[in-house]
Amino acid sequence: MLRLHRRGQGAAALCLLVVGLYGLGGAGTLRAQMPGSASPILQGDAVKRVSDHVYVIMGFPNVEFVVGNGATLVVDTGMGERNGATVWRAAQKLARPNSNFYLTTTHFHPEHASGAQAFPPSTILIRPVAQQGEMDLHGAEFIERFRGMSAVNKELLQDVTLRRADVAFDTELHLDLGGVTVRLFWLGPAHTTGDELIFVEPDSALLPGDIVMSKLVPNMPTPEASPKNWLAILDMLEPLHPRYVVPDHGELGDGSLIGRERSFLADLQQRALELKRGGTPVEDAGRQLTTEFQGKYPDWGNTPGIANVVRRVYAESQ
Ligand SMILES: [Zn+2]
Repeated sequence: MLRLHRRGQGAAALCLLVVGLYGLGGAGTLRAQMPGSASPILQGDAVKRVSDHVYVIMGFPNVEFVVGNGATLVVDTGMGERNGATVWRAAQKLARPNSNFYLTTTHFHPEHASGAQAFPPSTILIRPVAQQGEMDLHGAEFIERFRGMSAVNKELLQDVTLRRADVAFDTELHLDLGGVTVRLFWLGPAHTTGDELIFVEPDSALLPGDIVMSKLVPNMPTPEASPKNWLAILDMLEPLHPRYVVPDHGELGDGSLIGRERSFLADLQQRALELKRGGTPVEDAGRQLTTEFQGKYPDWGNTPGIANVVRRVYAESQ
């Protein structure tokens, strides 16, 4: 495993064909949840162009492609081998002749990362060290959890082999795809410990994984999720003023999605802190704020996630 550190080594990052063997450090997490109830079967013929170099298949989740003159980067795989194969076929159609292929995953949850085995071994899989560690610890457990959610999940997730990264980076890695530079970065835990974000520089396109969604309550299924850090990350993303934001769940938008998500999360954090200071037990606060925020933000989805956010806010403020 080739392990890269910080920027600076970005230009060298294209020499990623060197695949050594490195152990990756562990990182904690646990339980998950599925945002929304969309079909987990991706439609490979529904590829949509977002900007000069960025394409997307809208689905569960949205899967993105960044196409350069010499290489194509695929962002997320869909759930299981069948979806991974759909995404791989779409990537081949989009790619220029004789391209190299890179694959990265925004976090280790099965709908984002469990289709990697459908890609040929020559595809270079890149992810943050923290994400690989989290997958090593909890990947198999999440596959089982997702298999139990529905018959279709069970089928999609049979015989999954969780592929490990060929390249793992600590905080940031630059890729030159040929006429397109892409920045992959990790800013600490938010939705999971290993959340990765991607910025396609010439297009001013941000691919934020689950960190910025479109009118969906932020998902904080595990104790490692952090409202505080999530807000700090949103503050770091805002100055990018991306022209395009391509969330992994929900509709596409522009930089205003970041501020909208921030306002919602800051509002919920503040109300939860008020209730905590007033002595309201955490589960009561979860119920109360679910009703309150459903009224206040009637067009936001994933409202069962509100109680989880409240739990994390309570835990963080101790
Ligand atoms: Zn997720």
